[in-house]
Amino acid sequence: MQTGLYCHIPFCASTCDFCAFYQEKPKRADLLSYLKGMECEFERIPKSAQFDTIFWGGGTPSLLSAKDLQRLGKSMIKHVGSDFSEWTVEMAPSTVKADKLKVLLDLGVTRFSMGIQSFNPDSLEKLGRLHNLKQIYTAWDLIKESGVCETNVDMMFALPNQDLSDWRDDLKKANDLESSHISTYCLTFEEDAALYVKLSEGKLAIDEEKERAFYLEGWDLLKSFGFLQYEISNFTRSETSRCMHNVNTWKMNEWIGCGPSAASQFNGYRYRNPSSIKEWLKGLENQDIQKEDVVELSEELLFTDSLIFGLRMNEGIDFEELSMRFPATNDRIKNSYLQMMDQFESESYLKKEGSRFILTREGQLKCDAIGTELLNIDEGVIG
Ligand code: SF4
Repeated sequence: MQTGLYCHIPFCASTCDFCAFYQEKPKRADLLSYLKGMECEFERIPKSAQFDTIFWGGGTPSLLSAKDLQRLGKSMIKHVGSDFSEWTVEMAPSTVKADKLKVLLDLGVTRFSMGIQSFNPDSLEKLGRLHNLKQIYTAWDLIKESGVCETNVDMMFALPNQDLSDWRDDLKKANDLESSHISTYCLTFEEDAALYVKLSEGKLAIDEEKERAFYLEGWDLLKSFGFLQYEISNFTRSETSRCMHNVNTWKMNEWIGCGPSAASQFNGYRYRNPSSIKEWLKGLENQDIQKEDVVELSEELLFTDSLIFGLRMNEGIDFEELSMRFPATNDRIKNSYLQMMDQFESESYLKKEGSRFILTREGQLKCDAIGTELLNIDEGVIG
C-alpha cells in the first residue's frame, strides 16, 4: 500500500479572505520551536513506515528562510530516509527566492506548486492575496530556471465580480506558464474565513448556475490546451505528472501528517494533530500529542470513502476491486450502493464499464451531491 508523509508548515504573512486552514503569523521564537517540534515528531514516526510521497503544505512553506527549509528537510530525511518518488512543496509567489529553491532541490524536492489563484488584480484583492502580477512572473521564472521536474499552479474560479471572460483570461495566462499540472478550485465559503462573513451579511451570494458555467468553461478550455483531466479539479499535460500524493489520499491508502493541524490516516485510525503550535508542542514534550477527531477505520468506512473520493477521479472506481480490498464490508451496504449507482446510471450521472463506474460530465458537476447520497446510505444502513 502506498504511504504519504504530509508536513504542515503553519505560517503565513497574512490571512487570505477565503482561507480556513490553521496558520499563524511568523514569529522567530515560534518558528524555532516549530522546527524543534518537527524534528521530535519525525523521530517518533514508526520505523516500519516507508514513504512513497512527501507533501509540504500550509500555511506557506516558502515563507521559511533557505536555512530553515534546509534544517526541516534534513531532519525529515534523517528520520524517514529519502527513498520516495515525489516530494511537493507549496509556494506563494511573494516568497519564492533562488536560494530557497536551490536548497529544496538539493534536498530532493521534485515538484513545486504555486498558489496563483488569479492573474486579475481585482480578483486577487477580493481574495485578500498579497501578491501582484510582477511577483507571479518573477517567482515563476525562478522556478523554471531552477530546473525542477514537475510544477503545478493553483487557480480559483467563481470569484466575486469575476465573469467567464475573466476566467478564460486567467486560464490562458496559466497555460502560458507551461506548468506540467494545473489545479482549479471553485471558491468556497468556509465558516472561519473572512469571505464567509460577507456572505452571511448578504454582500456576496452563491450562484450555482454561474459555478456550473465556470466548471464547464474551465474543463473545455484546459482540454483545448492539451491538458488531461484526472480528477474534478486536477489536470496534467501527461499521465506521469499526476500528483501521486493526492492520488494516494483519494484512493484511501495511508498517510502520516506532521505539524500542527496535520491529519493522518494510519494503522487503522484517522486523526488530526491539535490546531495550535502551543498545544502541539505541549503534546510532543509530554510524549502524548492529544489527537483530535479520532476515528477507528472500519472496512465499511474505507469502502464508502474509497467510493466517494474514487468517483472524483476520471478513472472512476472498480466495484469488484473495492469489494475484494475490503471483504468484511456489510453486503447490505454494498447492495444498496449498487442500487444507487444503477439509479445514477439511469439518470446519466454515471457510466458503467464492466465493474467500473465513472462519472459523466453531468455527474462530475453533481459530484458533491452524489457523495452525500452515498454517505447517507452508509449512515442509514449502519445507524
Ligand atoms: S490560503 Fe494559503 S497562503 Fe492564504 S492564508 Fe491560507 S494557508 Fe496562507
